[in-house]
Amino acid sequence: MEFCENCGKVLIPKNNKVKCSCGYEKKLSSEDIETQYTFKGEAIPENEVIVKTDNNVTLPTKKITCYKCGGKKGYWWTVQTRSADEAPTYFIRCAKCGNTWRQSN
Ligand SMILES: [Zn+2]
Ligand SMILES: [Zn+2]
Repeated sequence: MEFCENCGKVLIPKNNKVKCSCGYEKKLSSEDIETQYTFKGEAIPENEVIVKTDNNVTLPTKKITCYKCGGKKGYWWTVQTRSADEAPTYFIRCAKCGNTWRQSN
């Protein structure tokens, strides 16, 4: 992150240089920009979730449209797949053919 040497503002690079409203200017190399402004997050692999539900358990139902059989009734449940601060993954199973998919919302 680049800061203005005069007033301490955070400066966002544009065309390989930073420019502050106070007149301060500094040229940056593309290497600077890459190391300072590129977020290098840890890649999280998409975990394949093995869905295991007990068929005796009564799951809540909702109106769906199954893309396999066109069934209109589905069961749904959520699974906490990763860290607790992430939204749980939402699964739907067609009541007619048992087709199960992951809903992204
Ligand atoms: Zn400044
Ligand atoms: Zn179905």
